[in-house]
Amino acid sequence: MRSPSADVIVIGGGFSGVLLTYYLSVAGSRVVLLEAGSLGCGSSSACAGRVQIIESETEEYLDLVLSGFNRLATLREEGVDLEWELPGHITLLSTTEQWNVYQERVNRLRRKDVTAEMLDCEALQRYEPGLAVRGLLGAAYSEEGHLNPFNFLMGYANAVRRLGATILTRTPVTGLEAQDGTILKVLCTRENFIADTVVLACGAWTGRLAKQAGGYLPIRYTHAEAMVTEPLPRIIHHHVGMAGFYETVHGNKPTVTLGVAQHPNGTLVVSNAIQQSSEIDQASTAWGMPALSNALRKHFPALSQVRVVRTWAAPSPFLPDYLPAVGWLPGFANLFCVGRVAFGTTDYSSTCCGGCQNDLGTARYTIFGFIFSKPSYIGRQSCHRPLM
Ligand SMILES: Cc1cc2nc3c(=O)[nH]c(=O)nc-3n(C[C@H](O)[C@H](O)[C@H](O)COP(=O)(O)OP(=O)(O)OC[C@H]3O[C@@H](n4cnc5c(N)ncnc54)[C@H](O)[C@@H]3O)c2cc1C
Repeated sequence: MRSPSADVIVIGGGFSGVLLTYYLSVAGSRVVLLEAGSLGCGSSSACAGRVQIIESETEEYLDLVLSGFNRLATLREEGVDLEWELPGHITLLSTTEQWNVYQERVNRLRRKDVTAEMLDCEALQRYEPGLAVRGLLGAAYSEEGHLNPFNFLMGYANAVRRLGATILTRTPVTGLEAQDGTILKVLCTRENFIADTVVLACGAWTGRLAKQAGGYLPIRYTHAEAMVTEPLPRIIHHHVGMAGFYETVHGNKPTVTLGVAQHPNGTLVVSNAIQQSSEIDQASTAWGMPALSNALRKHFPALSQVRVVRTWAAPSPFLPDYLPAVGWLPGFANLFCVGRVAFGTTDYSSTCCGGCQNDLGTARYTIFGFIFSKPSYIGRQSCHRPLM
């Protein structure tokens, strides 16, 4: 008989791992979280803090995002100061095809009572007087949020510790020992761990660990770069971004899909210069920063002399269908995955409570409140078994 050192071992201390640890701890599990570096040192510390709504591709995904969004707006009551703001998002549109796609999204949002509208160039100029609108067809406006990602992560990490979970940083998992579809041991350099359930929450690194254990999860990633400027007088009033982030992710050429917001302290956080990458590398590149600066200057000409105070890069993980991956890995009895989260998808309470509403008759089904359009890589058995 095994003697578990925890009920659940969570591997990875980014948003996914820390949040899941929180919900599991609230539900009464004994959890040990193992993080290779420091908390948030992967993609989570690169995050620009935008709480997206308009990018929700399907009706069901939008419902999930709105539930997370509404929860974030009330988190202050739980002692986490997220520096929550509602700047709204403006998606710049330059082709008729983009206009039509976003018109449909705006209609969908309005049906859900989310404030959203299409803006012609005149209206866009009123919303963002500093923006150069030449060459644009207009924009889509949507109600959206912004938060401080570090407060978000550390707030949850503190809550997790208060709830009695163990967080071990500087503890890289070197392998998973599996037998007959069951993970028996989580191997680390100093000691090994045993638990009833093991969760992979390693962001862009998840696919590697899954493969090492003999499993398959097609988490991909691009190399995404960002920067922050010196504080400036107010010049940008909303979160402003270009359409086509996912087209960029697909493309082979390095591309900038600009996303910029000005924070209450006056700094501008500017992302993303994107390159395809087969290796995870967290260094800024000689191409990325000039490319990002040029895109910023093109859209906000008054910012041509602004000073950049810090640059960074991280893998931007995604799945082929761009939806979150939350569920049991096929072929394993006790290996769970949480990957490709965005802020709006971080309400895992239904995961822990086992709020299972499967609809196996269709290609799209719900696992504990999370929606997947391609059931092939997350096991269907997950529909019958909650994590807790
Ligand atoms: C430039 C940029 C801007 C972004 N902006 C936004 C935004 O505005 N809004 C938004 O919603 N999303 C944004 N994202 C995406 C978001 O940051 C990620 O989706 C999210 O952080 C992923 O969290 P995660 O916990 O799944 O992965 P990560 O944060 O990468 O966490 C995985 C962790 O696992 C650890 N790990 C890996 N291997 C091992 C191992 N063997 N043993 C132990 N630990 C291990 C890593 O060290 C890491 O800390 C942005 C991403 C980038 C790159």
